[in-house]
Amino acid sequence: MQIRILLVDDDAGGQVASLATELGRYGFVCQFVDQHDETALEGIFSGITGASSILCRDSAMPVVMQHARKQENEGSRRSPPVVVIGANDSFDNEYRIAKAGASAFFAAPVNVPELAERVELLAIERSSGVNGRVLIVEDDAELAEHYCLVLSAAGIEAKSLTDPRRLMAELSSFQPDIVLMDVQIGDYSGVTLARLIRFESRWLSLPIIYLSSEDDRGDQLEALSKGADEFLVKPVSDDYLVRSARIRCYRARQLSDLMNRDSLTGLLKHSLIKQELEKELARCRRFGHLSSVAMIDLDYFKQVNDTWGHRYGDIVIRALANLLRNRLRETDMIGRYGGEEFMVVLPDCSVQAAADLLKSIGESFSELVFAVGEKNFHVTLSAGIAGVNDFPSGAEALEAADQALYQCKHEGRNGVAIYSAKK
Ligand code: GH3
Ligand code: MG
Ligand code: MG
Ligand code: MG
Repeated sequence: MQIRILLVDDDAGGQVASLATELGRYGFVCQFVDQHDETALEGIFSGITGASSILCRDSAMPVVMQHARKQENEGSRRSPPVVVIGANDSFDNEYRIAKAGASAFFAAPVNVPELAERVELLAIERSSGVNGRVLIVEDDAELAEHYCLVLSAAGIEAKSLTDPRRLMAELSSFQPDIVLMDVQIGDYSGVTLARLIRFESRWLSLPIIYLSSEDDRGDQLEALSKGADEFLVKPVSDDYLVRSARIRCYRARQLSDLMNRDSLTGLLKHSLIKQELEKELARCRRFGHLSSVAMIDLDYFKQVNDTWGHRYGDIVIRALANLLRNRLRETDMIGRYGGEEFMVVLPDCSVQAAADLLKSIGESFSELVFAVGEKNFHVTLSAGIAGVNDFPSGAEALEAADQALYQCKHEGRNGVAIYSAKK
């Protein structure tokens, strides 16, 4: 995901504007706008520039907020979240900033890794508001079609199913985040279908929301007694349908992220990233493209913990996770393999291309400044790369990447090595 940040300040050398270089190292695209430049500010809010978030100086907040409100009143688009940076972190001042509608406040001097993380979180929340997949099980074909159209118009992918006998096949192919289930679908009971869905363990946590009309009281009671937690009572207004679906998709995704993702970094957990590698090998075989796998390990990380403390160690780990997310493609898969070890699967990417990419990421990483009070420190990384196609299994490709990593450590760290079979 490409994250664009607009920096609003009173001159190009200002406190906020000067964050551009540092945030750039995390892979964010930064653009400076002078707070007095009305035309440029109009441009931001009319959405031409498509910013993920706006970073502004405390003194520029009134003018930024004024534009944001104006645009929201005109009903065009949700304006990007605003993050304010200022010297005054008193309660009264922060209250004023919150009241104006800002999403976050950072006291100067800014902790850049923390700021980078917040900006990214805000961008993710904003974009996840618009996606999600909903399967609608409803025998009234016309009504089902209407729900689909309304949800699609709101950016939610929706699919309707009028024949419950195709339910399981549809779940597998469509992989919905939630199911909207009519309580009675022809001869079939929605409650029984819900139970059938739970026969498969992978659908145990799939949220099912029942659709029922006023005259389905008996069905409603039955559903409630079987553990249904939610009803939408027909007729459902379009607006209510969209809002309920959106929030439930968002929560469903957060929940699955909680189960599948590492809590410190938000990256895929060990077992999941390894599964992704096996899947990628299968895809390589099927489609004939070349893919790479990389193991990344922080250099002398024990020393970082020993010198600066575990808390700063964690900040460094998160900073690398953010950098990887921002610099790699949407199709690349990133996992936290272990403590300070990361694993990346790069589909359709030769080992040479992967090495160039990781070299460049490694350089950016080594330039990140971690501040502890008055003092600064830097950390470097080492990476080992192997071609996924060169091995009979993902596990062996990973082993080769790990050997290359070991070689890189041996040759002095802060670099990238490609596995070679000759050794
Ligand atoms: P090398 O360059 O050879 O990789 O040296 P190193 O010190 O990085 O290697 P080593 O594997 O000996 O040390 C890794 C350290 O990472 C040990 C452990 O304390 C630390 N670590 C592992 N997981 C975490 C974590 O989640 N947070 C923090 N702060 N430290 C961690
Ligand atoms: Mg019905
Ligand atoms: Mg290690
Ligand atoms: Mg290490």
